[in-house]
Amino acid sequence: MKRPKSNNRHQARLSESKEIQLLNSWLESQKPESGSNPLSLPPPTSDAPMPGPVVNGEFPPYAGATRFDQLPISRHTKDGVASKKYTVMSAIQRASLPHSLCGRDVLGAAKTGSGKTLAFIIPVLEKLYQARWGPEDGVGCIIMSPTRELAAQLFEELKIVGKNHGFSAGLLIGGRGGKDVDEEKAHVNDLNILVCTPGRLLQHMDETENFDCSQLQILVLDEADRILDTGFKKALNAIISQLPKRRQTFLFSATQTKSVQDLARLSLQDPEYISVHAESLSATPKRLRQYMMIVPLEQKLDMLWSFIKTHLNSKILVFLSSCKQVKFVYEAFKKLRPGIPLKCLHGRMKQERRMGIYFQFCEKRSVLFSTDVAARGLDFPAVDWVVQVDCPEDTAAYIHRVGRTARFTSEGSSILFLTPSEQEKMLENLKVAKITLHPRTPKTDRMQSVSGLLSALLVKYPDMQYLAQRAFITYLRSIYLQRDKEVFDVLKLPIEEFAASLGLPMTPKIRFLNQKAKGKTRPPKEAPPEQEDNFEENELKDDVKVPERKLKMVKSVEEAENDILLAKGETLLENEPAVSATRILKKKKLKINMHRPVGTRVVFDEEGNMLPPLAALADMESRDGVLQLDKVKERYKKLKEEMKLQDQEDKLLNKQRLRERRTKEKMKWKRGREEEEEEDEDKEEFGSDRKSGNGNAKRSKIYFESDSDGEGEKKGKKDAGIAADSISIAEQEALALKLLSSMHS
Ligand code: ADP
Ligand code: MG
Repeated sequence: MKRPKSNNRHQARLSESKEIQLLNSWLESQKPESGSNPLSLPPPTSDAPMPGPVVNGEFPPYAGATRFDQLPISRHTKDGVASKKYTVMSAIQRASLPHSLCGRDVLGAAKTGSGKTLAFIIPVLEKLYQARWGPEDGVGCIIMSPTRELAAQLFEELKIVGKNHGFSAGLLIGGRGGKDVDEEKAHVNDLNILVCTPGRLLQHMDETENFDCSQLQILVLDEADRILDTGFKKALNAIISQLPKRRQTFLFSATQTKSVQDLARLSLQDPEYISVHAESLSATPKRLRQYMMIVPLEQKLDMLWSFIKTHLNSKILVFLSSCKQVKFVYEAFKKLRPGIPLKCLHGRMKQERRMGIYFQFCEKRSVLFSTDVAARGLDFPAVDWVVQVDCPEDTAAYIHRVGRTARFTSEGSSILFLTPSEQEKMLENLKVAKITLHPRTPKTDRMQSVSGLLSALLVKYPDMQYLAQRAFITYLRSIYLQRDKEVFDVLKLPIEEFAASLGLPMTPKIRFLNQKAKGKTRPPKEAPPEQEDNFEENELKDDVKVPERKLKMVKSVEEAENDILLAKGETLLENEPAVSATRILKKKKLKINMHRPVGTRVVFDEEGNMLPPLAALADMESRDGVLQLDKVKERYKKLKEEMKLQDQEDKLLNKQRLRERRTKEKMKWKRGREEEEEEDEDKEEFGSDRKSGNGNAKRSKIYFESDSDGEGEKKGKKDAGIAADSISIAEQEALALKLLSSMHS
């Protein structure tokens, strides 16, 4: 770097307030014009000490800056960025930072893997720093992500870049145990920056006493189009209604929302629309090689198996359409031992396990079977191949899925399997979205068939047969529920052959298809394709119920509300809170004893006749209408005793219920443990190296819970240790930090 070394010392010597004052003058005096494109401006020529005035008291313009150290940002942030070894800014960073730093709302669109995260983390830190935000100021910034894994990743990035600042930050995501929620509740008001999923944030807004966002300075939506999508609509509206309108807002995604309505909901103020790759000839990264192959449905597994067998030295991410598909393919292939470690990730998994798999896939060469839960934002290092076995629901989904490879400056490849019926329209859609694929012809002579092996597996393991049936039905249903009827037509699928290809001895009956054929049912008009896994618990015996959305009416409120949150893939899990459709404003939690019906208390008179409750009191009045105090007192005493007794009963009942729940959880946990152990066996089988990051990673001070250091040794005993059920948040976070720092160093 050309900058004189004295700069560092010079800036370090400035007191905080002096620095803030200078930065402020710099930001104000060189503000880029609203609507201007900083990418078209020349870079600053001067390398004079910053942020001091340069020539004649003038600050250099920062709108053309190409390096982080040319920006009007604090020393703390500069050092944080430098600790990640970043010096040169990416296009989206260069284009958006000049606007966001001077206080504007930003709508940023840039290809996957182009560094959008830093484009919002830097102005967040700077805004709070300039406002001299302190612990007593509470929540100053909310960063929202549609999935828990992405939230965790953003949190890690924030911790590293913001480590020199004194802010407290917390990761609030669902799927952690009740104890963790309580812990979060105790601390959430002390946090300055919340990184969260919408569901968990809403849970705190509802349940945490005195939870206060009224001073919020910045709201960030990462993967904004996804959060603004129907699936999160109600949750987001409820959240927004509790945030102050005067704030800075950033929306970032590779596929940006264009809906004016969406933007109106967020009350953006004269936002800067920054779309750095809009003119680009391709919507996907240049370094990404994209292939497609026509694969008949019944040959998909053969093709996938052959692909894996011929790419044993690659890190491969495989997308399938539903949890059931993922589970079946993972379990089946695992038993067939391809010679590379296999992993699976979907929304029906326990959060700790999900997190563990995420970190393992970051670290190691393996094949990860996943639903769209891994489609957005995740920055797995060095993925060689993205294989889309099932067609994405639309072009945006395609862009995000393939975006898991070829990130930043690395290269990568992707292959999309299309069935003959999907091919024509899907390719047309992709072309319109500026995505060009290279066709590949399957080498049938080298294809290895697994259908026969699967049949044998299903005979040997009856559980597998059940999984195969569920995979079969959820796949068909997902196609049936797809919005784009021109691409997806369930009636064009070779159903018998598909069942056979999964190893099923007979084709399961699919009631909704029969009814459709008879014209009795029509697919829901506006049905998004995401619901398949939400119907799963009470169906799939041998056939499936008609997947009308009306079905939800019979579900419990909680289930239905989960469905709302779960829309478009299972981004949130069972512990995510419910969103009430009508609830917009803050509600206090009501304690209602469900087991004691209201107004049904029965009172008898001395002769054993039933009296309405008030009559019992009326009876205590003397003929002349004066209340006989002693009788009233006696009655109250009796009532009190009754209530005490009832209370004790309630407590007992509650205890019992709690105990049952704990036992159930323990059982589940045990099962999870066994699965994890099985996986560990796999690891050994494949002789994979299990290097864990060395335990000397420094903890940043922006932790939301108290630092309990000295646990490092204990944690180190198991790599990623995530399998262990009882891992605390502190451990998880320390581990995450450790893994990330070893990853990036
Ligand atoms: P996006 O959100 O656009 O998909 P990310 O923010 O996840 O992309 O960044 C992709 C990768 O590039 C990450 O590993 C990130 O650490 C890295 N990165 C971001 N900005 C820079 C930069 N200026 N220089 C080098 N690497 C960067
Ligand atoms: Mg991102």
